[in-house]
This record gives sequence, C-alpha cells and structure tokens, in this order.
Amino acid sequence: STSTSSLPTIGLIPGDGIGHEVIPAARRILETVLPGIPLVDLDAGFATFERTGKALPPSTVQVLRDQCQGALFGAVSSPIHKVAGYSSPIVQLRKELDLYANVRPVVNKKAFNASGEQVGCDLVIVRENTECLYVKQERLETDANGESIAFATRQISQRASRRITETALRLAQQRAASRSSGTSLLTVVHKSNVLSVTDGLFRETARAVFAAAGSPSAVKIEDQLVDSMVYRLFRAPDSVDVVVAPNLYGDILSDAAAALAGSLGLVPSANVGPSFVMGEPVHGSAPDIAGKGVANPVAAIRSAGMLLAHLGYADEAQRIDRAVEEVMTRGIATPDVPGGRASTNDVTSAVVAALQA
Ligand code: ATP
Ligand code: MG
Repeated sequence: STSTSSLPTIGLIPGDGIGHEVIPAARRILETVLPGIPLVDLDAGFATFERTGKALPPSTVQVLRDQCQGALFGAVSSPIHKVAGYSSPIVQLRKELDLYANVRPVVNKKAFNASGEQVGCDLVIVRENTECLYVKQERLETDANGESIAFATRQISQRASRRITETALRLAQQRAASRSSGTSLLTVVHKSNVLSVTDGLFRETARAVFAAAGSPSAVKIEDQLVDSMVYRLFRAPDSVDVVVAPNLYGDILSDAAAALAGSLGLVPSANVGPSFVMGEPVHGSAPDIAGKGVANPVAAIRSAGMLLAHLGYADEAQRIDRAVEEVMTRGIATPDVPGGRASTNDVTSAVVAALQA
C-alpha cells in the first residue's frame, strides 16, 4: 500500500558531529523507498546538553513514545573529561524504550581469514543489552592488608536470556529462509566452564528456547566459549553466522566483528525492543572529519534498512542493501574505504539513483 497513514512514523536524531551529515543521507533513502513516510526531527546529544542542560530532552522521549514506531540515531560526542550532569542519551534511550537487543550485522565480501585468503563474511552479533556486568553494581572494599579490593555484580536472568535468544533464533530462521541452502547456524557464546552459574544459566536458557521452538531443522545450534569465539571470528570469519551473547561478551565481539568490515563507516546496528526499534550506525561522531562532507553514509543508510526490516518492510530493506552493494561494487565510496574519493553526497545520490533505476 502507498497510503501515507499506514506508514510508521520515524524519529530522526542526528546527535552530534557527522550525525548531522549521515542522518540527512539516510533520510533521503527512507524518502526514496517509502515516499511520504512521516519523519520527525528530534534533538539529543552533547550539543543539546550544552544548549539546554539535558542530553536527552524529555520532549524527545515523549515524541518517540507517543508518535513513533522507530528511530534513527546518528552519534553523540562523549566529552573526554567527566562533565557534571551529562550522561549518554543513547544509554538512556535504551533504558527508556526497553531496547534489550543490539543487533549488529557485518557483511564484507573482502574479509580475510587468518591464512590471508579472501573468504568474505556475512554474520550478525546479537548482544543482550540490559544486564550482565552492565547493571553497574560495583563496590570498593578494603582487604585484610588495608588495600583496596573492588567487586562487581553480574546479573544473568532467565527472562533476559530467553528474549535475546528468541530474537537471535528469529533472525537465524529468517536467514535460513532467505538462502538457497535453507539453513543457518546459531552460536551461543558463554564461559560456563568458569562461570557455571551465570553463564550456565545463559547457555541452558538458550538451549531451552531452541527446544521450545521445536528444534527447527533449518537452524543448527552450537555453543562456543567466548575466548575461542574471538579467535574463530578472525581465524575463519566465513564460519560465523548468527551469534548470541550476554552483554559484555557481545560488546567485545561486536567491536571485534566491526573490524572485519573494512571501515567503521560501513557498519550498521539496530537496538530492538518489544515495541520499538532504533537504527544506529556503529561509528561515533568522528569530530576529526565532521563538517567536511566526507563522512561515509553507508552505516547510517544500512541502519535505516535494518530499521525498516524490523518494522516489517523487508522488501524495502532488501532494496536498500542491494543498492548500497551495487554502489560499493562500482567503487563509489568515501575516503575511509580504500580507494574511495567520493563525498557523502556523491555516495548518497548514487544509492538514490540505484534505488530509482
Ligand atoms: P566519538 O567519541 O564520538 O566516538 P571518535 O573520535 O571515537 O568519536 P569515531 O566516530 O568512533 O570517532 O571514529 C573513529 C575513527 O573512524 C575516526 O578517525 C573517524 O574519522 C572514522 N570514522 C568513523 N565513522 C566514520 C564515517 N561514517 N565515515 C568516515 N570515517 C569514519
Ligand atoms: Mg568512538
């Protein structure tokens, strides 16, 4: 249907730095694949904090909650020194909107394995985003010798482990269905040989989710210790498909995986909750290149694609992926990509043209 009223409303939050270049690029793509899609411009970030005293104005949260089904977030500058009253708006948004899953796909036909062969990779890291060590329950005590000793609490719940595995399994099933092989691989990452209670619960819950789904034959499930998972990611990136992990392991694995992509400017992500999804390029505000018109818009454009896929617009998402792929294959790229000499605008216009062709 082309009726505007049925389209989801999307909040656009450029944030700081190159967010103001890549989010307008993504806007053009959204307007091209879904003409008339309602878009709302919203404020957040360090500049907003300096202007208003709040990094995430309550009005932004309210509009997202009341009017939007999804959002696209650019980037925020994190101040080098601790600034009183400032806390990252992205962390707050994840809490406010219960965005419990961070989904980060990494696709690169040119990725190398450890033998120097160009094997390519097409994988996705699904990271639990609400608990684990990030519950931030730390305490400092003094030991018997009068020296400091610090402790942190790690929380792993059945509920959070279940919903993150359900998200990952859904993704694995979609990937299986989209392939000629009809199969996919779901890797459950843990360290239950050492942390048998917490990681044991994560692993057992993941297994139970798979069983409760009827052990679908299209998806092969395996588990892997986090240390050997990092090794495997670089040793044989082509052997990795869908990875599900608790928060801390997922954080590290997602950055490791991003290193396989060729440039930070190419890697998208989605923060997914029960009733909201927020696309977010993995890169930061890149103050070193901000305002120069050379920021790579691909991460933001792909994040817009992920946003649409999660909102049920799979065809549009696929069209975006194909158009980006086509433009990259033709060598139209910003300077962060080896050999690239195009501007943000050149790349965006080429993607728009590819979508319209
Ligand atoms: P922040 O504190 O906001 O994370 P940063 O200085 O860490 O800022 P990042 O955005 O994380 O900067 O980027 C790290 C490096 O990668 C920088 O040199 C930056 O220019 C480059 N980079 C990041 N994103 C892009 C992009 N979209 N296009 C081109 N280069 C990028
Ligand atoms: Mg950074």
